[in-house]
Amino acid sequence: MNELSPLPAAALFDAFTYKDGVLHAEGVDLTRIADAAGTPCWVYSHGALESRYRAFDAAFAGIPHLVCYALKANSNQAVIRTFADLGAGADIVSEGELRRALAAGVPPERIVFAGVGKTAIEMAVALDAGILQFNVESEQELERLSAVATGLGRTASVALRVNPDVDAGTHAKITTGTAENKFGIEIDQARAVARRTAELPGLRLSGIAMHIGSQLTSVEPYRAAFGRLVGFARMLMSEDGHKLERLDFGGGLGVHYQHAPPVDLAAYAAAAREALAGFPGTVVLEPGRWMVADAGILLARVQYVKRGSLKTFVILDAAMNDLIRPALYDAWHPVRPVAEPKPGAVPETVDVVGPICESSDVIAVGRAMPPVAQGELVAIGVAGAYGAVMGSTYNSRPLAPEVMVKDGAFSVVRARPSYEELIASDRLAPWQIHRP
Ligand SMILES: *Cc1c(COP(=O)(O)O)cnc(C)c1O
Repeated sequence: MNELSPLPAAALFDAFTYKDGVLHAEGVDLTRIADAAGTPCWVYSHGALESRYRAFDAAFAGIPHLVCYALKANSNQAVIRTFADLGAGADIVSEGELRRALAAGVPPERIVFAGVGKTAIEMAVALDAGILQFNVESEQELERLSAVATGLGRTASVALRVNPDVDAGTHAKITTGTAENKFGIEIDQARAVARRTAELPGLRLSGIAMHIGSQLTSVEPYRAAFGRLVGFARMLMSEDGHKLERLDFGGGLGVHYQHAPPVDLAAYAAAAREALAGFPGTVVLEPGRWMVADAGILLARVQYVKRGSLKTFVILDAAMNDLIRPALYDAWHPVRPVAEPKPGAVPETVDVVGPICESSDVIAVGRAMPPVAQGELVAIGVAGAYGAVMGSTYNSRPLAPEVMVKDGAFSVVRARPSYEELIASDRLAPWQIHRP
């Protein structure tokens, strides 16, 4: 097989389509899910998740690779289990994510631990679990890991996360690969840190890692960064005698929200193959968003349509505490009525908002969409990534439940907490408890 020729991209499964005038998730009428789970609620398609994992994995066929799904995009147990059943590993950034990955059945030898701020306790728990590798981002972190590993009588496998100083051309809040941000070790300093890794007890330098940002829609920054990373790794091996087993290319592949097309998976994989040509080890890949974004929607019900002199507001029962991306990143999500619009329905320009007492509580601003009426359902699309995981209970709104659909059946995979549960972890201070 020619390592340089990309495989044809497999068609990705679009789970959310109209059928008999109603938006369905796989074979399930979304009005049935709204009736059973209430709104707002998240709906994920098992088939869409599976199709994305398989396509991604197939794009790297023929080269030793490990797909470590980045849990932070969506860490529901049912989502992680879907990928684990297909052979995925996990990219984690906290002890909580480590526990979620293990609980969902991800083998520890397929777990990589990323993040700039690992605590000593997190390191110890991950060493005890026997994870594959720590992606280390600073010299102080290296020293702490050495001390923790030595104390436990273990050896930590280390990949140094270098910062290839490539501008990913993405939103400032999600770019990570330039010298201006907190992530990674600057590539000019990394050679000395590699030497230090080899000297410190309890550590084994096993790889080099990178992650240049999120929602990249062009392959070019990847091509540049892969080239720099592999060049640096080859230099460490040939000139400094380090034995590297793995290169970790991170995640960041973009999906199609509004204008920019999704990154071309085949071209991305081809750029990786080209850069790796002849590299003797395994490549680790950490896609998050790309695996889950299109596989999920947020289902909400229109509470009011408020017509002002300047604007019309569609007020939903979903809010920024459920989906914060529009408020935080000015993100654009498609909003579709669940009842299929009549042919020729004249779009109306509206602001789709939530009920929270903040002007930033928006889902879509100035959006031309088919008219919707009070009581109707809408589906906020491309919401499977960085949706439920970023949810909060602001305004004392319970976290929205999550539902997974597979082949015409559905299951609640996280229930909506009760109000008792919402309040239960608060305590009065002792001096507030009145005694009779
Ligand atoms: C967030 C993150 C990912 C996943 O990023 P996506 O844009 O969701 O693919 C992968 N690796 C690291 C180190 C991350 O911080």
